[in-house]
Amino acid sequence: MKSAVLPGDGIGPEIVAEALKVLERLRGNGISIETEVAAIGGAGYDVAGQPLPEATLGLARQADAVLLGAVGGPRYDALPRELRPERGILAIRKALGLFANLRPALLYPELSDASTLKAEVVAGLDLMIVRELTGDIYFGQPRGRRSNAAGEAEGFDTMLYSASEIRRIARIGFEIARKRDRRLCSVDKANVLDTSILWREEVTAAAKGYPDVELSHMYVDNAAMQLVRNPRQFDVIVTGNLFGDILSDEASMLAGSIGMLPSASLDANNKGLYEPIHGSAPDIAGQNKANPLATILSLAMMFRYTFGRPDLGARIEGAVRKVLGAGLRTADIALAGGPSIGTRQMGDAVVSALSSYP
Ligand code: NAD
Repeated sequence: MKSAVLPGDGIGPEIVAEALKVLERLRGNGISIETEVAAIGGAGYDVAGQPLPEATLGLARQADAVLLGAVGGPRYDALPRELRPERGILAIRKALGLFANLRPALLYPELSDASTLKAEVVAGLDLMIVRELTGDIYFGQPRGRRSNAAGEAEGFDTMLYSASEIRRIARIGFEIARKRDRRLCSVDKANVLDTSILWREEVTAAAKGYPDVELSHMYVDNAAMQLVRNPRQFDVIVTGNLFGDILSDEASMLAGSIGMLPSASLDANNKGLYEPIHGSAPDIAGQNKANPLATILSLAMMFRYTFGRPDLGARIEGAVRKVLGAGLRTADIALAGGPSIGTRQMGDAVVSALSSYP
């Protein structure tokens, strides 16, 4: 197995270094994972004049999985749009055909005070949002600007899904639900949008292959409300690109700090790009302050979804839970006025918690 490692910019190299310590610690468990580092984002621009250098894409194509830190920073803000660091991420997702974005929102009981919602609403929260990533209004044609008959400027985009795109993401949703609590909620706007009517028909048809999973449907406006009213009612949510973009950000706040949340983007063969949901945090870069847990938990997802080793994924998650249970906190998740530790110390703590497992 091979993993491309793309640290990126800002805190990216610091948090990825901690995830690599964890990977190193797990070697010798019947897995052999080769890693190779390459530049992306601003770092890619610095070495090759491109946010996604060809050598990086070549490595990512060859690899079974990609571990990414984060990209972006003030040094690159004045670059033209196609050279901006963020283009590197969009380009790699597209080039690798990563159509399924998985974002767990899991609130560790030890952090229930870190959420903006009341602890009794979010305690025990464990939901997964499966967002389609390569279609919908972000890619549909035609799009653009024009003048209407009255000579006024108009902007327009096209919401578009083919039946096969819907079925493909629905299957991912069902497969994931099957490994969890077997409940899948499909979110759409079928009371208004033709795209959503097709979406609902296709998801309902796909359900025939998964009689063991309970399927429900919800309109997106209601889903946005239910996520803050009673988020624990959900197990897995599957939805399109636009609705998923908004709902997954909403759900991430339920779980407290942005520094805790991993993500995976998968292709049809479970090849995946694994990254924390946060950005490059230039305000704390290079200061040993960043929380590396979202990146370490992204590595856990890599074991689950690409390497077929849910046992090792669970082991990493267990080590994170143990460290939090022992009261160790980086500054972003520290209790008000409470003590905190640095990025490297947090990585070391997870490694030593892993060591105390068999
Ligand atoms: P950000 O996520 O980088 O930071 C938002 C806030 O959260 C900051 O206060 C930051 O210090 C804090 N934070 C983020 N990650 C943290 C961590 N692991 N530990 C502790 N605190 C953490 O978002 P931003 O400030 O809007 O963007 C900064 C740069 O990151 C921009 O260039 C933006 O384009 C880029 N960005 C990249 C990605 C990505 O690489 N996928 C995603 C979002 C933003």
